[in-house]
Amino acid sequence: MRIDILCLFPDMFTSPFEQSIIKRAKESNLLNIVTHNIRDYTHDSHHTVDDYPYGGGPGMILKPEPIFELAETIQHGVDTDNMPIVLLTPQGKLLTQKIIRDLALQPHLILICGHYEGIDERVHEHLATDEISIGDYVLSGGELAAMVMVDAITRLIPGVLGSEESAKDDSHSNGLNGLLEYPQYTRPATYRSWSVPPILLSGNHEKIAQWRKRQSILRTATRRPEMLQQVILSCEEKSWISERSLNQN
Ligand code: SAM
Repeated sequence: MRIDILCLFPDMFTSPFEQSIIKRAKESNLLNIVTHNIRDYTHDSHHTVDDYPYGGGPGMILKPEPIFELAETIQHGVDTDNMPIVLLTPQGKLLTQKIIRDLALQPHLILICGHYEGIDERVHEHLATDEISIGDYVLSGGELAAMVMVDAITRLIPGVLGSEESAKDDSHSNGLNGLLEYPQYTRPATYRSWSVPPILLSGNHEKIAQWRKRQSILRTATRRPEMLQQVILSCEEKSWISERSLNQN
C-alpha cells in the first residue's frame, strides 16, 4: 500500500513513522509512506502557501494552487480511478473502524492536511473525494489526524500484525461483532490484593469464551449503549444482560 501525505510540516511524521508497527510495515515493504511539503509546490520567491480569507475574518487560508499541483504530480501516470483523496477536516465524516477497514483495502491513498484557518473550499469541492474528521474537536493542523489514520490503517494491512497481536478481536472489529473488547489480565494472578477473575485461570476454554462474550456485552451496554443496539444477541445473552441491568437498578 502507498500513502502520500500532503502537509506543511512533514518533519512531524519522522518519529511516529519510525517506531513500532509502522516501522515494521515499511521495512517489510507492506507500506510505503511518502510525505510531501506543500510549500515545495509554490512558485513565488516567498514560497507563499496561504493568504487572507476573501470577505475578511481572522486567520489565513491555504491556497489551492500548490495543493492541486502537488496532488496532480502524485497522480500523474498512476491509475487514479477510485483512488481516495482524503481531506482531514473537523467538518468531515467522523472516522470509524469501518472507514479504516475500507481504506485499508486500497492500494494507494492521498491524505491532505490543512493548517491555520483551513483550506480554500475549492480543494474540498474539486480535489478531495472524502472529508474525514478524527473527532469533534479542533486540532492546529491535519498532521496528527493523518498519523491517527495511518496507524489505524497499517494495523489492518494483511501481514503487518503477527498472529499474537491480531486485530480480529479488538474493540470495533468484525471479530467482536461490534462489541467492545472484554477485560484483559496478565501475571501476577494477584496484585495488591486485586485478583484476576478465577475463570481465566481455570483452563476451561469454553467457559472462558462465554465469560469474555458476556463481559464484552456488559461493557458495551454500560459504556456505549448506542453500539449495543446494532449487535445481534442470542435470547440467552439478552436475558442475561437484562437480568444484570435489573439487578443494577
Ligand atoms: N477553521 C476550520 C474549521 O472551523 O473547520 C478549522 C481549521 S483547523 C485549526 C486547521 C486544520 O487542522 C484543518 O484544516 C484540518 O486539516 C486539521 N484538523 C483540525 N481538527 C481536525 C479534526 N478534528 N479532524 C481532522 N483534521 C482536523
